[in-house]
Amino acid sequence: MAVLDQLTSQQAITLENKYGAHNYHPLPVVLNRGEGVYVWDVEGEKYYDFLSAYSAVNQGHCHPKIVNAMVQQAQTLTLTSRAFYNDALGKFEKFACEYFNFDKLLPMNTGAEAVETALKLCRKWAYEVKGIDENEAEIIVCENNFHGRTTTIISFSNDPIARKNFGPYTKGFIKIDYNNIDALEETLKNNPNVSGFLVEPIQGEAGVYVPDAGYLTKAKALCEKYNVLFIADEVQTGIARTGKLLAVDHENVKPDVLILGKAISGGVYPVSAVLANDHIMNVIKPGNHGSTFGGNPVAAAVATAALEVIRDENLAQNASELGDLFRAELNKYIETSSIVSLVRGKGLLNAIVINDDEDSDTAWNVCMSLKENGLLAKPTHGNIIRFAPPLVMTKEQLLDCVNIITTTLKQFEV
Ligand SMILES: *Cc1c(COP(=O)(O)O)cnc(C)c1O
Repeated sequence: MAVLDQLTSQQAITLENKYGAHNYHPLPVVLNRGEGVYVWDVEGEKYYDFLSAYSAVNQGHCHPKIVNAMVQQAQTLTLTSRAFYNDALGKFEKFACEYFNFDKLLPMNTGAEAVETALKLCRKWAYEVKGIDENEAEIIVCENNFHGRTTTIISFSNDPIARKNFGPYTKGFIKIDYNNIDALEETLKNNPNVSGFLVEPIQGEAGVYVPDAGYLTKAKALCEKYNVLFIADEVQTGIARTGKLLAVDHENVKPDVLILGKAISGGVYPVSAVLANDHIMNVIKPGNHGSTFGGNPVAAAVATAALEVIRDENLAQNASELGDLFRAELNKYIETSSIVSLVRGKGLLNAIVINDDEDSDTAWNVCMSLKENGLLAKPTHGNIIRFAPPLVMTKEQLLDCVNIITTTLKQFEV
């Protein structure tokens, strides 16, 4: 078999199983083409993509403007490293800083790297600006967080599968309940070495937990009161996904440190970034931090195009309207459903909760049936399914999807 031969789905799965590390448990569908809200498998079956690569493909698959930006830049200059300047990075940094209203941007490649960058930035700020004794800084994080897969980040995860046998863990983190403002205040009051509060404005991986209205505003105010950096991980919630450019925009909260990834490239290329104002970002000096590929010309061109698409195609507005419609339609069904207990979310980041145990396989079985019916989604837990289509969806397409989802769920009614 030549490497470039067309594979059947089963052949592709067999190859991954034999030669790839088993660090994922994919739905058994093998994709080889994508366009807008659709993907196709190797047998030519067409599906609605209701995961969007965990909200990386907000602009739709293979958006021509983003792909063209990549191709053009790739034919000109791909990588210089930061040992030299290139003429793409500065333009992107200016564009993104104005777009998100920050003084400075630090480019990296993946979400986890951007989170690591934010943590390092926060610690350095703690010692050099806030005046914490060396090695004593603490950062508050939330129960059931998801911030990525590096050793430090899994140190403060409470997912046993992500943590077990990866110790020893990194110290310096205090975990508190999400969406509990009293817990935050109590912790700030009792721990003078706290220098940052790292939070997802909506907890995506945990199952799309939307905090109470006002939580982020109050948390930001407490951070100001205690001179602590409010660090928003918007890797999943950012870039129009929840119906605003950023999820913190629903409460007009301005983070001190903003972490972006995923859709900042429209899923075309690994790009991530940390944004902050000068009084924070200026603690980073040459040699303190870096990445060979971070801020490369292709990343700069791709991310600029991806952000332009968000703005030019009004994708935040579309996500807001379609999200309202999606939850309204599903709630009509849920009223009489015995299998689904609720739908929750903001914009086009939503989840349904199945009436079954956390460790049941019902959500997986529903996703298998959804696949048979032409729609791809993935459980976040045994009883929760996340629904996050590309934001370029039309109303007609969304209603078609609602029909597929409710019809499929009805097959599971008892
Ligand atoms: C996906 C995700 C990350 C990690 O991004 P990677 O690119 O997978 O490293 C971090 N934070 C949140 C909220 C995410 O959803």
